[in-house]
Amino acid sequence: MPPSLFARLAEHDYETVVFCNDNSAGLRAIIALHDTTLGPALGGIRMRPYASEDEAIDDVLRLARGMTYKAAISGVNLGGGKSVIIGDSQTQKTEPLLRAMARCIDALHGVYIAGQDIGTNSHDMAVIAQETAHVTCVAEEAGGFGDPSFFTAFGVVAGVKAVLERVCGSDSLVGRRVAVQGLGNVGYRVAQLCHEKRAHIIAADLSTETSQRAASELDADIVDPRAIYDVECDIFSPCSVGGIINDDTVPRLRCSGVAGGANNVLAEPRHAMALAERGIAYAPDYLVNSGGLIHCQAVVRGDVDRDRVLGQVSRIFEQTLAVFEKAEAERITTAMAADRIAEARIASARSRVARATDA
Ligand code: NAD
Repeated sequence: MPPSLFARLAEHDYETVVFCNDNSAGLRAIIALHDTTLGPALGGIRMRPYASEDEAIDDVLRLARGMTYKAAISGVNLGGGKSVIIGDSQTQKTEPLLRAMARCIDALHGVYIAGQDIGTNSHDMAVIAQETAHVTCVAEEAGGFGDPSFFTAFGVVAGVKAVLERVCGSDSLVGRRVAVQGLGNVGYRVAQLCHEKRAHIIAADLSTETSQRAASELDADIVDPRAIYDVECDIFSPCSVGGIINDDTVPRLRCSGVAGGANNVLAEPRHAMALAERGIAYAPDYLVNSGGLIHCQAVVRGDVDRDRVLGQVSRIFEQTLAVFEKAEAERITTAMAADRIAEARIASARSRVARATDA
């Protein structure tokens, strides 16, 4: 028998899970708050036609916990949370559904702050903002700060530079070969920023139109999506889906390092070791893609000074180098080193809270 929901919550110390239902709007959603020690839990709303309730629960729990680690490692004073709406975003995403979701978010009084994720966008966040103040990534036309992807991409490039510094002794992108998988909101901007710094871009996307645009605007060499793993390059930058570093792809990679925007890029934790054994430097995904979250924190605080936010995002360079150093010193993978740094920050915040409560 699979473990009960409470057993799953206890295993990783989740705080709250809320089930949201609205028959007239067709809403079935789950909000999970993993840890709010560092601050209110911020995380996107994912909308997918999950095959089962269990699949939706697994996804929201995994994603919420991931947000706790992302905030902790990047020095953001926010907790980890996420929500999922069960449904097809192409056919079932309606204004009444988004408004019903917004009312559920509002009922949590700010302990959960929503943003966009797969299946939702900044225009959806503008609809949600009509019912609750606890939302970020609201479209600029609606008075918000829009999609944070540029900041995510900027942080990914800081991670790319840190890997180059580590493996080549220089963070310069001039003449480096960067292979970008996925030319969407994040990947296209990563390719653009690296191109501006005179790197050579090799890229793959499922969309021929986007690929052609990258070929003409960025002078990128376009390869078949199945062939991107075999490209000889300095950096492989996965910016599409998760799970693409796996048993099949690790032996094929011909890069010195991996740094990309995609979440959960390792199919399993053991693939961090598989990369290390091949001498490939891996910059942990949730650290290098935390630029968007750093921007969201600024929005939540009401202090969005673009240069200050970019300065904070650029610290991902030093933070990635610190992860490499810790991994080397403790003879562990960079993925484990990142987890330990994040866990130490949460533990120290928890003991501060406990001391303040005792006093
Ligand atoms: P997106 O949907 O805009 O772009 C994804 C791109 O990947 C699309 O162009 C798609 O055609 C392409 N793609 C999908 N499968 C592919 C494959 N097998 N080979 C090549 N290309 C493929 O998404 P995004 O907002 O750019 O996010 C990309 C990744 O970064 C996701 O994993 C997301 O969770 C993560 N991420 C995004 C942000 C953000 O600010 N947008 C922040 C943190 C993490």
